[in-house]
Amino acid sequence: MTWIEGKFEENVITTTLEQAMNWAKQSSVWPMTFGLACCAIEMMATGASRYDIDRFGAGAFRATPRQADLMIVAGTVTHKMASRVRRLYEQMPDPKYVIAMGACTVGGGPYFKHGYHVVKGVDLVVPVDVYVPGCPPRPEALLEGVMRIQDKIRMKRITKGNGDTLPTPHHTGYVKEPEIILA
Ligand code: SF4
Repeated sequence: MTWIEGKFEENVITTTLEQAMNWAKQSSVWPMTFGLACCAIEMMATGASRYDIDRFGAGAFRATPRQADLMIVAGTVTHKMASRVRRLYEQMPDPKYVIAMGACTVGGGPYFKHGYHVVKGVDLVVPVDVYVPGCPPRPEALLEGVMRIQDKIRMKRITKGNGDTLPTPHHTGYVKEPEIILA
């Protein structure tokens, strides 16, 4: 921190409690260590040094659902696995978020027509917040998904009389955040 030392007078920063709490939450999303098929390799690459998901505060992959608040469903969800996915989701504490990563997870992917054993979309099993398409999606795409989850957390309203607002994503990455109305 030497670059900032001695540069400022003593000071205070003001913000709202809501913004401070949302900032803390969006900067410490802990994903569950959980991969089902080939998409999981891309998820692992996202966690490694080149893409470094830790830059977003989301690098602490937890080995138990009880310490995780983000489930990245990475890979083909078979009917045999569906009940396990559901059980893991239910073991995660609230608030929790789900990213459906890859074509298989989003809607059956290459198994859509003849894969009698594959669930045609993990949203039939758990509620999905963000869909990341591709077969497999590149790590950049998963990072984009993580940023959309952060947008959603930032829009969480905890003050009285204000319901949650949904951010409007845009393909340029620009996110239109609705105006916050203070009660
Ligand atoms: S979407 Fe493609 S890469 Fe991902 S699990 Fe399915 S087949 Fe594998």
